[in-house]
Amino acid sequence: MSLSPGRFFLPGPTEVHPSVLEAQARPVIGHRGPEMRALMERLQPGLQDVFRTRRPVMVSTSSATGLMEGAVRGGVRRRLLCLVNGAFSERFATIAAGCGVPHEILEVAWGNVHDPGAVADRMAAGSFDAVSLVHSETSTGALNPVESLVEAIRQFPDVQVLVDSVTGIGGAPFLTDEWGVDLVLTGSQKALALPPGLAFGVASEAFLERANSLEGRGMYLDVVGFYQQLAKSQTPTTPAVTLLYALEEQLKRIEAESMEGRWARHGEMSRRTCDWVDELGHRLELDLHVLAPEGGRSPTVTCIRLPVDLEGPRVVSAMRERGWVIGGGYGKLKPNCIRIGHMGDHTVEQLEELLDVLEQVIRKETGT
Ligand SMILES: *Cc1c(COP(=O)(O)O)cnc(C)c1O
Repeated sequence: MSLSPGRFFLPGPTEVHPSVLEAQARPVIGHRGPEMRALMERLQPGLQDVFRTRRPVMVSTSSATGLMEGAVRGGVRRRLLCLVNGAFSERFATIAAGCGVPHEILEVAWGNVHDPGAVADRMAAGSFDAVSLVHSETSTGALNPVESLVEAIRQFPDVQVLVDSVTGIGGAPFLTDEWGVDLVLTGSQKALALPPGLAFGVASEAFLERANSLEGRGMYLDVVGFYQQLAKSQTPTTPAVTLLYALEEQLKRIEAESMEGRWARHGEMSRRTCDWVDELGHRLELDLHVLAPEGGRSPTVTCIRLPVDLEGPRVVSAMRERGWVIGGGYGKLKPNCIRIGHMGDHTVEQLEELLDVLEQVIRKETGT
């Protein structure tokens, strides 16, 4: 089935603009030659603006999980505290287990966000030298207060803060340097609206110092290796050159809109979706609500809890029959939730159309 443009609202991968797709059709260049160095140099200012950093930005030919693994392998000497509030934050613990990195979990209910005070208490009770957290928990639509969490963690000396902002960066404000994050990463296929296949990240000097002194960092995803090559405007191994062309095109489009413009547009899409949920639930007398609490909602993805007798997969397939793609609930939230990925290049106008169709589906399925 081929969808009309503007109807693909999965919380990743997201719809990619035709000009970005077309940019990939340029001829391939050698990755150790001058053209590649020039391309890498052209990409940096745009990437630095996206991350709000003055540091060089890594470009990894992997999905985002690759840099999550690089963060864990290079960022922890003693013990990692994994702040879990959904499936992707849980993934840091799974990676730590897979890499033999000592770790503990501090979990709050899926849908909720972490409290800086509670995190500080847990830090005081353990001997952690790194903390992992997810900015925008795509599985639940919750947005962690990264800035105040970093502040709470910073009371403890020599702790690395590792942040997954895969559905944050590009849609939600993220100020890497100002907030003092040690390692932050994102993937191409979420709020940046690029094709899947690349991951981007920034590591602090302190992270590189820690990583340099650790053994067992591996090779392909070694953050130190990325930074050594970045100094020469190169990548450690063959990059997905054609995806870099897509990135160059998308960075131009992002510059034209401005990051502030993107943050505002995403904020508006999120507010519109949450208001719609409240209004519809009230009007149809249905138990319909946004999973994440007010004040802790991601601007890029909304997870909606449906009335008990309405199954999430039914709604997703009824939408598909009408030519629209939304996300199902993730993992244990699958039976009773749906997710709308209002991120990337979507507009409020497209979102309004989607919500109209979703209302028809919900009314039909609930007989209201
Ligand atoms: C999608 C996603 C990931 C995983 O990304 P891959 O690109 O599939 O590796 C990790 N964290 C979050 C928050 C995500 O949304």
